[in-house]
Amino acid sequence: MSNSPSISELSPLMSNYGRFPVTLVKGKGSCVWDDKGNQYLDFTSGIATCNLGHVPDSVKEKLMEQLDNLWHCSNLYHIPSQQELAALLVENTFGDQVFFCNSGAEANEAAIKLARRYAQKVKGTESYEVVTFQQSFHGRTLATLSATGQEKIQQGFLPLMPGFRYLPYNDLAALEELCSDKTCAVLLELVQGEGGVIPAELEWVQQLEKICKENGILLMIDEIQTGMGRTGSLFAYEQYGIEPDVISIAKGLGSGFPIGAIIAKAEVAKAFDPGSHGSTFGGNPLATTAGLATVQHILSTNLLEKVNELAETFDTQLHQLKDKYSIISDIRGKGLLKGMVVQGKAMDIVKKAMEYNVLTLTAGPDVVRILPPLTATKEEMLEFFVVLEKVLQDF
Ligand SMILES: *Cc1c(COP(=O)(O)O)cnc(C)c1O
Repeated sequence: MSNSPSISELSPLMSNYGRFPVTLVKGKGSCVWDDKGNQYLDFTSGIATCNLGHVPDSVKEKLMEQLDNLWHCSNLYHIPSQQELAALLVENTFGDQVFFCNSGAEANEAAIKLARRYAQKVKGTESYEVVTFQQSFHGRTLATLSATGQEKIQQGFLPLMPGFRYLPYNDLAALEELCSDKTCAVLLELVQGEGGVIPAELEWVQQLEKICKENGILLMIDEIQTGMGRTGSLFAYEQYGIEPDVISIAKGLGSGFPIGAIIAKAEVAKAFDPGSHGSTFGGNPLATTAGLATVQHILSTNLLEKVNELAETFDTQLHQLKDKYSIISDIRGKGLLKGMVVQGKAMDIVKKAMEYNVLTLTAGPDVVRILPPLTATKEEMLEFFVVLEKVLQDF
């Protein structure tokens, strides 16, 4: 036992995160600062969460007002900001009704629970299976890690929750196996984020939708990373010409304030009757105030138009680098969610960029994932590429 650390050396935090040796203490717009005063260009957006940049004024103002009024009340009472945010989401999507929770995993939990409850009402208790896809990521709770099609996320947590089946992504032929007599829903990302920034192909998604509609299977889209303007439309499903039954959202919804939600069609949503599901903090006044201000900001400032313009510059620059540096074998993704495929070198590149005060992410060992704030300026984008080019010269 002589090698085990004494109590005083032991971090008070569990070691479940691999952290970079940097302590961030301040953020504004596209930049963050560490405790030594160093400034970084944050092209991770807190993993697609600070989509409006750090500490956006429009959200801050509304939160400050709400801080003076009411922080929390239970869902036994009506909450105005919750009602308003739900109405705004409904008005701007396929959906009719919204349920609020606190995170992405909880949103997917809610989607899975809703699908089961709906199916068991309309089809019976034998209908409970949710089909998901290989390399997907849906969260870290027991149900959502069971839904996740990656063994590394599940390792050590067996047995998995029953009722999930995984198919290969973007595989038209495999869709023949989509339906079993137990299948009640399909859950998928339209760009697999954590799994390597892999966009779903249009034809595949449309065929998948067709099979779902013909067989009474719910089409559920995990928009936790792709939503809130990230891919150039408010939600990515809009670009596929499909109509989902349920979408899950979180990350960018609160501009950094924890909030998640599912949006569903009325017919499905009504399976959550009084007492069937709930959350103490879900839709809390502060969280839904942040969500409301965020969605209002996106809709009222023409932000999506700017995202698409910025995404064009982003794309052009990334492809120029790909032509110049052989380490880059592919550029993939949509809008401002892009991956640079660099065989095994992703973490080395992310670390090197950090030495130049630029933050990026990985998506597995082979992909550098880049998520600029939707509010980044063209100058910041060009500044990013000056650094990225310097970084790539070493590889
Ligand atoms: C981040 C993420 C989740 C999990 O969200 P948490 O808030 O971390 O629980 C689920 N699905 C996708 C696609 C994500 O990107």
